[in-house]
Amino acid sequence: MASRPAVLNVRNPRSGEVDFQLQVSSREEVAAKAARLRENQIAWEAMGVDARCGVMARWLEVVKTRAGDIGEADAHDTGGCHTSYVQGFITMANVGGWLQDAPKAFADLKWEGKSFTMPSVELESQVVAMPLTGVISPWNAPLMLALLDAVPALFAGSAVLLKPSEVTPRVIETLFETVREVPELAAVFDYVSGAADVGQALIAEVDTICFTGSVPTGRKVAIACAERLIPCNLELGGKDPCIVTENADLDRAVTSVLRGAVYATGQVCYSIERVYVHESVHDAFVAKLVEQAQAVRLNSDNPRAGHIGPFTFAPQAEIVTRHIADAVAKGAMVLTGGAVENIGGGLYLRPTVLTGVTHDMEIMRDETFGPCIPVMAYSDTEEAIRLANDTQFGLTASVIAGDAEEAKAIGRRINAGGIFLQDTFLTFAKLRTFGSDSFGWSGHGAPRIGPESLRRFLRRKSLMVQHGDVANIQNDHHLGPPPGRPEA
Ligand code: NAD
Repeated sequence: MASRPAVLNVRNPRSGEVDFQLQVSSREEVAAKAARLRENQIAWEAMGVDARCGVMARWLEVVKTRAGDIGEADAHDTGGCHTSYVQGFITMANVGGWLQDAPKAFADLKWEGKSFTMPSVELESQVVAMPLTGVISPWNAPLMLALLDAVPALFAGSAVLLKPSEVTPRVIETLFETVREVPELAAVFDYVSGAADVGQALIAEVDTICFTGSVPTGRKVAIACAERLIPCNLELGGKDPCIVTENADLDRAVTSVLRGAVYATGQVCYSIERVYVHESVHDAFVAKLVEQAQAVRLNSDNPRAGHIGPFTFAPQAEIVTRHIADAVAKGAMVLTGGAVENIGGGLYLRPTVLTGVTHDMEIMRDETFGPCIPVMAYSDTEEAIRLANDTQFGLTASVIAGDAEEAKAIGRRINAGGIFLQDTFLTFAKLRTFGSDSFGWSGHGAPRIGPESLRRFLRRKSLMVQHGDVANIQNDHHLGPPPGRPEA
């Protein structure tokens, strides 16, 4: 790491100018922070979940007073115009939810009683926190995706060392101004700054990793974790399909597809990236979609006023442009949008509707992460399901059908973790209930949502006490005869 820069220039997504310099953490700083957190974690875990809840409740009060500032900082990072401005409130909901759920999640892991198989043995479970959790997060929802893992890890009794994306590093310092108001929390929660090499330095120090980001980086993270034999939880990309059946209410379908595809400029892991519409309603669907897409306004004049913002990460605009060009070269038609515009230094793309697409095109195979809506006609339900499942990804999928039963029947056959029926973007509906497992490239490891997700930061030990006679090797019949062998 000797040759890497000490400072990274950070671009403002609205002006295109460098307006922030990120001080990059050295390997020694990463190691020193990890050591300090490890030392403090012992007391954090020993205080128990109820006392930890007390500390987190005090933090929640501080976050409430700074919720507006946190939103502003997040919007500065992303260019605004999606959940950025409400990130302070989302943080409050995250912490508040775990305040209610963590004590019960711990209680549910407790087991005490007699053994079924050896009744003279008493069993007791003990849960032990992973001492140090590492969190590596992406640029597309910088605060939310860092805290979705960090907050439950802290409730579980872990210390947390976080490495936010170097593309959107501003909001983390605003958050940590609130963390430092609560010394017990600041003792076990810290962050380091930088790019890939700092991510690798972090992996070298921690006991488990929660990573959110792209498939290629996820692979590198998994390899580094495998080298150290530590667990890793990966939340990766998507190429999420939506099926619209011939019986669907077309207004409902168009409205929900458009939002699901272009919300946050399409820079959402579970954005709709492929749309399959029954051939009998394809043309009517596309006509309505183009009309509504053209009414979507950019936020270039005022970050709080429009519907979609600039690309947060300038190279993403190049990837999206490449996907559109590849599709056009192979015969697709762009019905609206299609060209990235530089407005005041920010890079914007209006909702882009394409038809005549096929699975030979990058735009139907690889993650685009922009406001593009490629639409393909299908002739029967079997074909729609086959096309939806023709992917390496499996994060979420949507079905808009004539009624909920028709939608469910199709949804049950799609390979994805979350299936949105009769709408899109329903991810928030299952917060605090249960998690789901992605298919294929979209993720690995235990679910990150719901009380069970606490388990990612805990090991369960078992204490077994023999109250009866001890077994004697010379007369070892306490377990009965081996299966299939008659008693002597
Ligand atoms: P990315 O993979 O480029 O970077 C993610 C993080 O990994 C950053 O903090 C980066 O600095 C770090 N990193 C980069 N190289 C590393 C390495 N070799 N070792 C360790 N860390 C390294 O992802 P991104 O471009 O910031 O984010 C967009 C991607 O994230 C998209 O693919 C999107 O689908 C995905 N994503 C997934 C979810 C989900 O929950 N499944 C949510 C949001 C975003």
